[in-house]
Amino acid sequence: MQRARHAAVFEAPVVVRAYARPFVVAYRRWPLYVHGRLASTSSSEIQNVAVLGGGITGLTTAYYLTRSYPHAKVTVYEASGRLGGWVRSRRLEIPESDGAQVLFEEGPRTLRPRGNGVAVRGLISQLDLKSEILALPKSAPAAQNRFIYYPDHLVLLPTGATLANSGGTFRTEKLFHDAFPSVLRFAWHMARFTFSWQPPRADDESIGDFITRHVGPGPADHFASAVAHGIWAGDIWQLSMKSLFTRPWALTKRYKNALQAASAMQEGKAGHGPVLREYVGKHLQQGWGDRDFLNELRPASVFYFKGGMETLTKRLEELLRANLKVEIRTGAPVEQISKTEDRSALQVTVKSSESQPQPQSPQAFSRVISTLPALTLSSLCPSPSSSTTSLLPALASIPSATVMTINLYFRTPNLVPPGFGYLLPQTISLEQNPERALGVVFDSFASPGLDDTTRAQHAAFGTKLTVMLGGHWWQGLKGVPNEEEGVDMARGILKRHLGIEEEPAVANARAHRDCIPQYLVGHDDQLVEAGKQLKAEFGNMLRVAGSSYLGVGVADCVLNAWAVVEGLREDDRNGLSEWAGRRDELEVVEGAEGVI
Ligand SMILES: Cc1cc2nc3c(=O)[nH]c(=O)nc-3n(C[C@H](O)[C@H](O)[C@H](O)COP(=O)(O)OP(=O)(O)OC[C@H]3O[C@@H](n4cnc5c(N)ncnc54)[C@H](O)[C@@H]3O)c2cc1C
Repeated sequence: MQRARHAAVFEAPVVVRAYARPFVVAYRRWPLYVHGRLASTSSSEIQNVAVLGGGITGLTTAYYLTRSYPHAKVTVYEASGRLGGWVRSRRLEIPESDGAQVLFEEGPRTLRPRGNGVAVRGLISQLDLKSEILALPKSAPAAQNRFIYYPDHLVLLPTGATLANSGGTFRTEKLFHDAFPSVLRFAWHMARFTFSWQPPRADDESIGDFITRHVGPGPADHFASAVAHGIWAGDIWQLSMKSLFTRPWALTKRYKNALQAASAMQEGKAGHGPVLREYVGKHLQQGWGDRDFLNELRPASVFYFKGGMETLTKRLEELLRANLKVEIRTGAPVEQISKTEDRSALQVTVKSSESQPQPQSPQAFSRVISTLPALTLSSLCPSPSSSTTSLLPALASIPSATVMTINLYFRTPNLVPPGFGYLLPQTISLEQNPERALGVVFDSFASPGLDDTTRAQHAAFGTKLTVMLGGHWWQGLKGVPNEEEGVDMARGILKRHLGIEEEPAVANARAHRDCIPQYLVGHDDQLVEAGKQLKAEFGNMLRVAGSSYLGVGVADCVLNAWAVVEGLREDDRNGLSEWAGRRDELEVVEGAEGVI
């Protein structure tokens, strides 16, 4: 019913197709992984490891391999000519400004310190990048002010700090009237949510369905859909509640009502997922390194790098290139992964490319860690009996969304109100959003201090924005706009939404094809299946990490890169089988208060 309603709202000029839903396999809890009690391989057997993909996950994996297995040879295969994957920061000169520059992030821009963020804080400390960090305090306007565009203007969302004075906003804004059409009905939903909420009915459901069951469809359509655009560029009626909002999902199973859950969270009893628990457990044993730094950054709203997010991937690249045990092969698109004839190792075959036109013989490895998108990995493992059938079919049902980012710098300061930016809900009308924008980040406020202020003062005072287009709305679209079209579309959006008519002094657009994996309903079950297939077909010599599986953010990627290296000696692990089906097992880790 929900989907039919959305289809009517979005009579689009483009073909909008729903992702094919994966089959949902019957729920079965995977046996608990008990650290140290499973069969293990001696470290001398881990001599020669391939890492597929040179994004943040691949580089972090290779880095942790060099630390844990200093004698092993590590080979990184990257299809493109550069390392970093979606992490890409560009400094561009502002014309007629004495060489002043503006820094644009085409991919990730900010990181959250809490939860899995501890793994990035740990990595930054290990890489000695502490002095490169800028933190946005929770008191900053960008931390407090978040907007939704509805129906034809920005609406400031009441947050903790502003809630008490928000009576007027609730009364006057159409957003709230449309989200909560019947106050009585909403009050009924809220009371039910607060005092006796609904435990999950199935093993997974969409974010939209979960929210509707608890507080009605209005908040799902008008608020949650906007949040899903900002984080996953996805559709709340298809995205998995269990995999993406694991905490509330798990808490509705554990506690009878919202009050009990809230008090458990307040007392730090809500717990953390199994991967983070392993990370924390290990660091409690071995020591945290620079705990002061970890603690210091934790209270920030977000943090980022003075030199852009590429500071992180560049430092990893620098360390890996300096290590004689590491070989980095760029321009090396992996074409196939298969077992060697005696089945004791894996071999990686690379497609010939422009830079290496000669056919290359496969290279053998005792372990291969893939950080490639799940769908790509599935296609690299054909069955020996039929080249069109994959040995890892479960991975083929994890699709990804395409997003276009358009970075713009205007000479005039304060063209937007102070805040992080705004998001568009699925219920926005087509007249207001024909370009299919997901949201706009107010970079001047969200990550201040990045631009070159030494050569020309005005670089610090202009307005920097990033417009994001596409996501699930572009699913099924054959072509994506080119750079020029993207900039025109972004300017149209900013003119209509914010009244900005000024010509940008600097503009930069890039379409990121299939950049954000979509964890659809049943995602966790797919991972359980994929874990079994990795074990059955490759005896766990092939393992996985990366944004397709256990979290799409940079922090998730770093944590899972650490975990895949940590588990390399354990024969029963492959990056999925030890975690899939367990993501909602939240437990408290004693002794980590104030760090995670
Ligand atoms: C626009 C955008 C904004 C984002 N914003 C944020 C943010 O603010 N905060 C945050 O935490 N996260 C954010 N993310 C998410 C985060 O950037 C990604 O999850 C993360 O960068 C993924 O890293 P990865 O290494 O797993 O994958 P990738 O970066 O995709 O790396 C995989 C690598 O594998 C290579 N490859 C592909 N096929 C082959 C092959 N056959 N052989 C060899 N190599 C191959 C690719 O070229 C690529 O370099 C954002 C993502 C996007 C796209």
